[in-house]
Amino acid sequence: MPLEAPLASATERAAELNTRYRNHSAVDVLRHALSDPQVGRAALVSSFGAESVVLLHLLSTLDRTVPVIFLDTEMLFAETKTYQKELAEHLGLDVRVAGPDRAKLMEHDPDALLHRRDPDACCAMRKSEPLEHALSGFDAWVTGRKRVQGGARANLEFFEADGKDRIKINPLAHFSLEDIQDYITNNRLPRHPLVARGFASVGCAPCTTKTKPGEDPRAGRWRGQDKTECGIHFENGKLVRTGVETIL
Ligand code: SF4
Repeated sequence: MPLEAPLASATERAAELNTRYRNHSAVDVLRHALSDPQVGRAALVSSFGAESVVLLHLLSTLDRTVPVIFLDTEMLFAETKTYQKELAEHLGLDVRVAGPDRAKLMEHDPDALLHRRDPDACCAMRKSEPLEHALSGFDAWVTGRKRVQGGARANLEFFEADGKDRIKINPLAHFSLEDIQDYITNNRLPRHPLVARGFASVGCAPCTTKTKPGEDPRAGRWRGQDKTECGIHFENGKLVRTGVETIL
């Protein structure tokens, strides 16, 4: 829904929305968020990863006209790209593919090995920048992040400020790992094919490994590195940590 009048800052809007929807369910949060004037025009951003189907299905039951942004880093598993196409068709979603700037790839990552030399720079170029570009024109975006994922997500609220003007909506903030699995099973939804092969979380192919039973689901992402998120971007040609992670 377009914004009707200039609104307060994203921080103030998020605080008010959290107060209003504090005790709502995931589906009610998403339903109201998609029509609340305090939220504005929203897109959903999805990696079409291991658990993405839950949020995508939820959206498909509420409003299939909401754009779904899929970030193709050009380093994804072939299985993810196939799953993305099949799932989008299955759920009838309006998917828009975003990707890195080709000239920048040629300049900074001609051998496609930047992820080994400088994974933060690689994430900035292949994820953060294209995502920011794809979100221009939107007042809010929907993510599938959950408190149970820990780290920076442990205190996640349904709504949070993303910079000065944009809001992030996290309808699944209070979902447990069991809730996710139950939702997929009860709605007979197709799972990412790599889940059955031991990948509890699926990102770019060079930076994702299988997880062992009992391990944190995100333990396979950037294994052996301090890195856990992609909250990095370029400012005046320099890498800057945003302190706000992307979801991918
Ligand atoms: Fe590059 Fe790895 Fe980040 Fe993907 S996850 S953008 S390959 S560093």
